[in-house]
Amino acid sequence: MEKAQQLYEGKAKKVYATTDPDYCIVAYKDDATAFNGAKKGTIEGKGAINNCVTNHLMRLLEQRGIPTHFVEQLSDRETVVRRVTIVPLEVIVRNIAAGSLAKRLGLEEGYKMSRTVLEFCYKDDALDDPMVNDYHIFAMGFATPEELKQISDYALRINDILSEYLRDLNIELIDFKLEFGKTADGRLVLADEISPDTCRFWDSTTGMKLDKDRFRRDLGGVEDAYQEIMKRLLGR
Ligand code: 5GP
Repeated sequence: MEKAQQLYEGKAKKVYATTDPDYCIVAYKDDATAFNGAKKGTIEGKGAINNCVTNHLMRLLEQRGIPTHFVEQLSDRETVVRRVTIVPLEVIVRNIAAGSLAKRLGLEEGYKMSRTVLEFCYKDDALDDPMVNDYHIFAMGFATPEELKQISDYALRINDILSEYLRDLNIELIDFKLEFGKTADGRLVLADEISPDTCRFWDSTTGMKLDKDRFRRDLGGVEDAYQEIMKRLLGR
């Protein structure tokens, strides 16, 4: 399978067609953005780390029965994935209040909620990814009731699997964002990435942030945090 024309360039990845219409190649970049592109920078080594971390976690999820778009890692930064049509929703799972939820509800970051929270945002940069509920999702046709049920079930199972896995590495999974896609034959699969760009990871002992919040909030030690996640998950 060979890389063909570029289909798309996002903030953190490029996507290429291949000679096989059922597959794409994603190439991870070191570019970092926050606040919907208002803050820009580079995180040295991020592309390779996010590629490896994502594939590691996708393999784990596949082993545990979650269908994903992952096919094969090609190199440091490049991976073959199944070609999908992305469901235009950001699926956010929250275990501990942080970020926009803490702000919206006036909670202290780190507040322990009595149960997991699932949120959906409509994927649209021009609108700043507004939060939507199931009524909006069905009325606008972003997903069918059956698809949303499947997406929600997968998201909560993924949370259980990842939370347990990371706990053993002394990492607390605070919250994260998922995206799902549909293959040409209509299968719903987990797509996009699972990395320090898309998750909040706190060290279980010290509470130190080991994710993109270090970049968003100018906390310093950004590269070190990404490397620490790589080391704990992949041992290198
Ligand atoms: P919040 O809504 O608190 O900003 O984000 C909740 C979680 O979802 C965080 O782990 C954050 O990294 C992730 N997230 C939400 N929206 C986006 C987004 O547009 N891009 C990325 N990379 N992560 C997001």
